[in-house]
Amino acid sequence: MEKVKNLIIGFGKGGKTLAKFLAQKGEEVVVVEKSNQMYGGTCINIACLPSKRLVIEAANGVDFVDAVKGKNEMTSLLRNKNYHMLADEPTVTVLDGNAKFISNHQVAVTTADGTVEEYEGERIFINTGALPIILPIPGLAESKFMLDSTAAMDQQELPQDLVIIGAGYIGLEFASMFAKYGSKVTVIDHKTAFIPREDDDVSAMVKENLEDLGVNFILGADISSVTDGPDGATVSYELNGKEQTIFANRILAATGRKANTADLGLENTDIALDQRGAVKVDDHLQTNVDKVWAIGDIKGGPQFTYISLDDFRIIKSQLFDGGRYTLADRQLVPYSVFIDPALAEVGLTEKEAQKQGIDYQLFKLPVAAIPKARVAKDTRGLFKALVDPATKEILGATLYGIESFELINMINLAMKAHLPYTLLRDQIYTHPTMSEAFNDLFK
Ligand SMILES: Cc1cc2nc3c(=O)[nH]c(=O)nc-3n(C[C@H](O)[C@H](O)[C@H](O)COP(=O)(O)OP(=O)(O)OC[C@H]3O[C@@H](n4cnc5c(N)ncnc54)[C@H](O)[C@@H]3O)c2cc1C
Repeated sequence: MEKVKNLIIGFGKGGKTLAKFLAQKGEEVVVVEKSNQMYGGTCINIACLPSKRLVIEAANGVDFVDAVKGKNEMTSLLRNKNYHMLADEPTVTVLDGNAKFISNHQVAVTTADGTVEEYEGERIFINTGALPIILPIPGLAESKFMLDSTAAMDQQELPQDLVIIGAGYIGLEFASMFAKYGSKVTVIDHKTAFIPREDDDVSAMVKENLEDLGVNFILGADISSVTDGPDGATVSYELNGKEQTIFANRILAATGRKANTADLGLENTDIALDQRGAVKVDDHLQTNVDKVWAIGDIKGGPQFTYISLDDFRIIKSQLFDGGRYTLADRQLVPYSVFIDPALAEVGLTEKEAQKQGIDYQLFKLPVAAIPKARVAKDTRGLFKALVDPATKEILGATLYGIESFELINMINLAMKAHLPYTLLRDQIYTHPTMSEAFNDLFK
């Protein structure tokens, strides 16, 4: 049993940033990663970056197969860079192997050749991410035409008839992207309401624009089975009391991701899980076992790379700064959905403000009123913002239109700094840009 000061399980965003930080302080770190195709974690290898590369290439009119090739070159370069970022540090060891707890502070690592090495970590950081949820629909898991998001991005040819199960944000990003590459896309969801968290005017517009790209929606449908045939599968579903079917030569399961605790050996520890199976943490991301922390998707909550990075900040604060920055300080989490055009949001929607009985003033601007949108030949969308009439602070914004994934960070900053909306209204912006829309939005 080898004793180590810092043991990080999983090469995710927060874990790798922590490993680098600790190494720069001269501390000993062992990072265990189960796959040599996953150095750098989910984001760079199979999620954010490859998917956004494919989204951008679809918009550029690049052929799908070429786009996949280019995406693979990018991920392989980033994987190599990430490996060396840690492995080249004199106090860091990157171990290829699957880690499994054998007690609260002891972990067995099984390498590809079956060798088992045991480590005792003074501090242990669990950063093993999340895994796709495959619904228990008869025939789905066994279907040879079923893909998860990783497999969907690695197809050797463009799926012709793509059925996506799940109208969540990942499902919609893939729907938008594959429709742009030329697939015939159908999205099936059991909910009748489309992206119900969003305001009705926004969700209606998003749906209409996706339909204009060729995406077909079947909402309020219960899938009863998936049956494989020679060239594809038949997806059977019930809609309005009627049994119906649709053919798919590929089925993308996009019904969420759950904390990856399977096979971690947590049953050999006192580490507690929450009701949804994620590792339970306190405001410092500490589990109920002393000096064992959880970072990123494994601890539940919003699943974003920047959350995992912010988790690193919380742990850094606890280790080196008296724990001044905690989960309780993280109040605003912006997000972007990379559909075409993009949807980005922070803070309250109008619907939420109404539900919570919060007094607000609403500002709305159609994207068609923004000169840069005319220049870019894409006038689809709507910008909305809510402000507190008393303090003039921004309560939230929904930006649906091109470049909104950049603009939302400016709103987030203004909200975090408690700036009045009038500052964004009266700011000098370069021209023609999408950000100058704030002059008019907040008028
Ligand atoms: C298709 C898709 C698109 C996405 N797009 C975005 C986006 O645009 N923006 C965004 O912010 N987020 C996006 N996300 C979410 C984002 O990818 C995740 O929230 C983020 O990567 C989680 O990082 P993490 O730090 O929790 O760990 P991860 O990066 O998931 O790392 C976990 C690592 O642990 C390893 N591991 C697991 N078990 C073990 C074990 N027992 N022993 C050793 N190693 C183990 C895994 O191989 C993996 O490398 C997307 C997700 C998907 C699926």
